[in-house]
Amino acid sequence: MKMDRTSEIYLDENATTRVLPEAALAAQEAMEELFGNPSSSHITGLRARNIMESTRRLAREVLGATDHQIVFTSGATEAIQTAIFSTLCHVRETRRTELPSDSPRLLLYGATEHKAVPEALEHWNQILEIGDELLPIPVDRLGRMDLDFLREHASRADIVCTMAVNNETGVIQDLPKIEEVLRSENSKVMWLADCVQAVGKMPFDLASTTIDYAAISGHKVYAPKGVGMLIARGSAPLTPLIAGGGQEQGARSGTENLPGVAALGRVLGELVSGTSARFRDIRQLAEFRDRLRSSLERALPNIVFNTPFDVSVPTTINFSVSGFTSKEILDLFDAADLRVSSGSACGSALQASYVLEAMGLPQWQCDGAIRISFGPTFTEDDVAAACCRIEAAGRALSDSCLVISDARDMATPREIDGVLQLKKGSMCTWMLFDEATRECVIIDPFDDFCERIETFVRCKNAQIVAILDTHNHVDHDSCRKLLIQVLDQYT
Ligand code: PLP
Repeated sequence: MKMDRTSEIYLDENATTRVLPEAALAAQEAMEELFGNPSSSHITGLRARNIMESTRRLAREVLGATDHQIVFTSGATEAIQTAIFSTLCHVRETRRTELPSDSPRLLLYGATEHKAVPEALEHWNQILEIGDELLPIPVDRLGRMDLDFLREHASRADIVCTMAVNNETGVIQDLPKIEEVLRSENSKVMWLADCVQAVGKMPFDLASTTIDYAAISGHKVYAPKGVGMLIARGSAPLTPLIAGGGQEQGARSGTENLPGVAALGRVLGELVSGTSARFRDIRQLAEFRDRLRSSLERALPNIVFNTPFDVSVPTTINFSVSGFTSKEILDLFDAADLRVSSGSACGSALQASYVLEAMGLPQWQCDGAIRISFGPTFTEDDVAAACCRIEAAGRALSDSCLVISDARDMATPREIDGVLQLKKGSMCTWMLFDEATRECVIIDPFDDFCERIETFVRCKNAQIVAILDTHNHVDHDSCRKLLIQVLDQYT
């Protein structure tokens, strides 16, 4: 298959997005022409302030945030920080006048939250000497919050942090149900909703909820990095993290990031219009997802999807491939110029996914998770090209006898003559294969490669001459005995 190598296909939009051309233009205009300081009282300053206020108006409209305070921040991490800091400052203040309670108070958060949430809770709990207990709310197999657990603990909580959509899996939390349970147990507790991965992918109406704080990030929705928003209900405490010139009604000092806000405004304008030529609707995105999913199934016969598609946004596909590490799949896709990521982009490269672990998925799925994510600006051409390359990558795997697919013609697998090394960490398995005679010797077959070796032997219709263990395996198990059984007909 001919592959266009001149352009990469970016399928990692949950990590970050490229800036929408219109948004980049708005930022450029705000740097070159409308460059004033929004605090200045002359016309140049007023023009700049107008950009700030028009973006705020559009944010209100898109998010249904009628009576809320909208504070521009450097991103969602800062918005989360501000919400938690404000709440805990308030808690500290009210405790001064209250009798101490005998049971510990709680800081509740979903077990699959972005790290910004538990880290900020821990940080401010310690710095402000609040002394609350951090308690993750478990999730079920689908990644949805355990509502009974929430019901049981909500009355002792000082804050509850939940997310609208998970960044690794795309799972949508049932916020209306969470609200019902939360408010039936505790009408006063502060509720922070991380809405970063939901904007542009599902409708919002913050005014019809009792969410106290919502965090939004610009760079996940085609605005630049370095801009975000905290949306706070009128009744929610707001203590500035940054004090100074009193910008943002005193909630966040420092001269505003006007280019970032201008760009975000342009994106929000596209979203508000509802008829944007740039943004696809949910139905179209779901159709794109289904096509990508079918191509993945054709390319990777051993694929298991970790995203529960019925309760997820259509723009995230999280999967693992039995017998392959995430690094191997990442490298394969990278070679096909498909940019995908392993689990979350935030953790250091290739750790097991704590999100999938919290969902109770088998360890191999958590270790080997891959995430494909796109966004509402994905086009028909993008999906067609991505499917094509995914299937080409799959063919490369089966041609190398690394997978066997019923769907493909296996008549001409690639020639593999000589020594093949399979390596994981310090562990090594060797296979000696002679294309002419089909004879194969397997040396030190360790457990993790059992499936791979079996696939290779079947694909090559190899004649096994010997399976050798050359040393005592102290650090891993040999699958020699198992191979002898399952490959009986090839010996
Ligand atoms: N919350 C979620 C769900 C995210 O995906 C991210 C970024 O990956 C953040 C918060 C942090 O956002 P920012 O990069 O704007 O600080």
